[in-house]
Amino acid sequence: MNRKAVIIGAGYAGLVAGAYLSRAGYETHVFEQSDEIGGVTGGFRKNGYYWDMGQLNIEGLGPGEQAGRVVDELGLRDKLTLLPAARLYDFPDFSMAPPAEYGGPWWRKEFLLRQFPNEKRGINAYYRFYRTMREIITFAERAEVSSGAKAVWLKLNMYLRLLPLLPWVKWSAKKLMDHFFSSAEIKAVFTSILADFVVKPEDFQGLGVAIVNPESAFDARVPLDFSRIAHQPSYTCIEGGCRKLADLLADLIRANGGQIHTGAAVTEICTENKKATGIQLSDGSFHSADVVVASGGAREIFNLVDPAAIGAEFLSIAQAAPLMESVFMLHLGLDMDPSEHLACGIDYCYRSYDISGSVGKLLHETYHEGEDGYLIYVPSMYSPQSAPEGRYAVTIYTVAPNRISGREWSEWSDRYADKLIDLASEKIPNLKEHIVERNVFTPEYFQARTMQAHHSFGGCAPVMNSKAVPNKTPVDGFWFIGGQSASGAGIGSVVAGARRISLQIIAEQSK
Ligand SMILES: Cc1cc2nc3c(=O)[nH]c(=O)nc-3n(C[C@H](O)[C@H](O)[C@H](O)COP(=O)(O)OP(=O)(O)OC[C@H]3O[C@@H](n4cnc5c(N)ncnc54)[C@H](O)[C@@H]3O)c2cc1C
Repeated sequence: MNRKAVIIGAGYAGLVAGAYLSRAGYETHVFEQSDEIGGVTGGFRKNGYYWDMGQLNIEGLGPGEQAGRVVDELGLRDKLTLLPAARLYDFPDFSMAPPAEYGGPWWRKEFLLRQFPNEKRGINAYYRFYRTMREIITFAERAEVSSGAKAVWLKLNMYLRLLPLLPWVKWSAKKLMDHFFSSAEIKAVFTSILADFVVKPEDFQGLGVAIVNPESAFDARVPLDFSRIAHQPSYTCIEGGCRKLADLLADLIRANGGQIHTGAAVTEICTENKKATGIQLSDGSFHSADVVVASGGAREIFNLVDPAAIGAEFLSIAQAAPLMESVFMLHLGLDMDPSEHLACGIDYCYRSYDISGSVGKLLHETYHEGEDGYLIYVPSMYSPQSAPEGRYAVTIYTVAPNRISGREWSEWSDRYADKLIDLASEKIPNLKEHIVERNVFTPEYFQARTMQAHHSFGGCAPVMNSKAVPNKTPVDGFWFIGGQSASGAGIGSVVAGARRISLQIIAEQSK
């Protein structure tokens, strides 16, 4: 008899798990509370436009890469077109855009040496550190997919390279930056991304700075393998938008006999003798299962299980896992081509070098209204079909607190939208006069779309020494996947993590 799998959530995590489990012969049911599939990758369609909900570029979808394995194993490579995507960093006093004429794999280093001549020693030391870290990560990734003597050899090499960095293991990003550099401007080049994660540089692990700043993210021409043993991830976006992959995964589940139920909120994860038996929906119906795989918010999901079955220790990890904040987002349609004014389709406009101060505001429920920075993403520069003929799709957004102290999002959203448009006119002149379509999304929209009381745009926040929520729970047959699980946030990690856990479930259940 076929085993039965119930999956909670039709975001990328749930859909990847559904595709693997249904392929392995499980009778698979995916339950999604929203009327749309895709979770935050479901996108937004209106009047002939399509906008992604803020996803800019995806790490590691290429052949042989972490998330790319899913694309290949599920036979989706020919059905997806991946477009190289790079980020531009704009700071108040300088801009780091990929040069029109390719400047070689280390052009950013050379740019920084010109921009900050007094920081030469630190810049050289940082790039030695970066190379070593990429080698360590490459050995670790190769070891994960190897076995026997080869895996041992790879791990040995990884530890050998880690040895000289051991004194830095407990350093924060702030300490590491202070070690390399003296000016706030150059430190912000490597730590500004932490403002998006809502983590202060003093709370982020120093060695992680190399992981969140792959040189390949800033110029698609930079080679991914810059030495025999060092790989940097690819960065791409999906032609047509993220929804394309969600639809392909959903088609696979259905082709394997699985079913996707939308508008179906799971209100209880049922257990008996510490074993998952199925789920209950908001309409009171019960659906039995041999395995329950949940994605979504950790706090919300583990509230659906009998606390006695899950145990106080695990519950406290799920409740205490630090979360990122949400976003305030505008999806615009323009009657002029913004690419005339933008060197890149992904423009990070940082307006402050005080990363710690910006994060502090968000953590105290103060919205910076775009004054500290905002993002411009132009889907039309990658996928012209994102807008009707002669029109252009543009997204402008900022990270934003779930709640604003003393204010209501609903009352302030239009004023905040006007302010963001004014700020973005710094980059796209006369922006306001060219808007023919305007849609505003507050954190409250994202809370409803994801069924999270506290929406976290990227999942758990990478705060040093915090505990991740394990994928395997104390309840037999109940697993937790997705951006708020130990798999890690971001599409690459979510997709690769859902694959790994699905294969583990299949292996364990076939014993
Ligand atoms: C604004 C923004 C920008 C981003 N930018 C990037 C980027 O540039 N690059 C990148 O790699 N990643 C980016 N991410 C992160 C990435 O999109 C997510 O980490 C990933 O898509 C999460 O997938 P998921 O399946 O874990 O979660 P989700 O997409 O949130 O899916 C979970 C689903 O579960 C459903 N659900 C929850 N509880 C229940 C329940 N009880 N019953 C039924 N259904 C339930 C929800 O409705 C939801 O559809 C971004 C995210 C956002 C929001």
